[in-house]
Amino acid sequence: MVNANYIGGQWLTGPDARPDVNPSDLGDVIGEFARADATQAEAAIAAAVDAQKGWAALPGAARAEILDRAGGELLARCEELGDALSREEGKTLTEGVAEVRRAGQIVKFHAGEAVRNPGEFLGSVRADVEIVVSREPVGVVSVITPWNFPMAIPAWKIAPALAHGNAVVFKPADLVPSSAWSLVDVLIRAGLPEGVLNLVMGSGREIGDVLTGDERVDAVSFTGSTSTGRRVRESAQSHGARVQLEMGGKNPLIILDDADLDATVAGAVEGSFGSTGQRCTASSRLVVTDRIHDEFVQRLTAARNEIIVGDARHPDTTMGPVVDADQLAQDRRYLDVAAAEGAEVVGGELLDLGTPGHYLAPALLVGTRNDHVVNREEVFGPVASVIRVNDLDEAIAVANDTEFGLTAGIYTTSLSAATRFRRQSTAGMVMVNLPTAGVDYHVPFGGRRGSSFGPREQGRDARDFYTSTKTSYVSGM
Ligand code: NDP
Repeated sequence: MVNANYIGGQWLTGPDARPDVNPSDLGDVIGEFARADATQAEAAIAAAVDAQKGWAALPGAARAEILDRAGGELLARCEELGDALSREEGKTLTEGVAEVRRAGQIVKFHAGEAVRNPGEFLGSVRADVEIVVSREPVGVVSVITPWNFPMAIPAWKIAPALAHGNAVVFKPADLVPSSAWSLVDVLIRAGLPEGVLNLVMGSGREIGDVLTGDERVDAVSFTGSTSTGRRVRESAQSHGARVQLEMGGKNPLIILDDADLDATVAGAVEGSFGSTGQRCTASSRLVVTDRIHDEFVQRLTAARNEIIVGDARHPDTTMGPVVDADQLAQDRRYLDVAAAEGAEVVGGELLDLGTPGHYLAPALLVGTRNDHVVNREEVFGPVASVIRVNDLDEAIAVANDTEFGLTAGIYTTSLSAATRFRRQSTAGMVMVNLPTAGVDYHVPFGGRRGSSFGPREQGRDARDFYTSTKTSYVSGM
């Protein structure tokens, strides 16, 4: 049986379908999923156009009730759906369950936003004139998401879009249709009217330009690679659609001489190798001051040796497989490049665990410089490099010397060093005595420079992208 797309209130199979394969066990096919073509993508946009005004006309409380119900179901089913997510994407069971729980919290948060109905009431410079600044939906939103957080990222785009009265056409990454399908199923059964949320699974190459370039699309929210992000931006802006991009990072984690080493090593392991290193907030550059460098590397190497790579859903596993063969090849290519540039590569070998899967040992690159390729480009795998620096000044300069700017962290027991770093960091999110990864759902998420474009995602700031302000002047005459 093929799991169908959802267009205009109907589950429809497409002209094509693909098997969804478990990266922990390539012999395990999760299911067949439909792949939409351009005609179906256009039909989804048309359905969203037809549904949007009616959806926006509902009281915010009615939209809130539906979202709250969906969020509640995600929370109640987080074990089951988290297991399915781990089977599909390859993050550990603990990480999979936590992600579904997070998706539930996100959807519930935005249910609340639907009734908070933000606006302002102000006086005018003219006597007897009053001003109301209200927010209205933008219209039809294309949501295009990556494979690495197959529930949480779609949730943090779709939930605020719907809460504020927009209709959505959702295209998940081709690698993770099952998680997307389950999320849409939950939202639909919570009571969304037909056409308000449409699911078009399929290849970004084939339908991406329709979802970004169709003139009926008012806004595009995208997370993924920098190169695809650029293309999405051009296509959306060519017809005046607003666009929001999240595109990765090369996040520095500074470790100063005075840091608590136990906490630092634990934070570096989590930041660098959590989710198999496949997250835009990964701590991929460990910037370590000279006096603590050797001891830190020794302790981190020992901690790396303790990581148990295995089937994502096995209870003993602490790091799951790489998501697919292409990503694995990319990770290995970067390890070769790092070695050729003079890094000492600790780990990073292919692992044969008996079942066919994309297993890679976590890798530490020691003795790298910040101008090495591996410190300029996003690897997106379990690969962290160590850069030795003299002091805090050099550490901050190295941390900021990147074309990205998503997140940055520091481990130190010095309040003044932490404060200086927090003020001088050029990243959009800054962590003190915490890994660069690990963010909350109720505050803004986003970076600067090459990491992000457009208004912030998540928290209350999400409304800036999904609403348009209207300024009304009223005279009592
Ligand atoms: P992509 O940027 O190619 O994919 C992200 C999303 O965009 C997917 O849904 C994809 O669809 C879609 N897409 C692809 N082409 C187009 C297009 N022309 N127009 C509109 N949408 C399109 O990233 P990948 O998933 O292929 O991963 C490649 C690399 O990107 C990774 O190795 C990593 O470096 C980086 N990445 C960064 C992420 C982040 O959060 N910063 C997340 C994921 C990846 P489809 O899946 O069908 O190709």
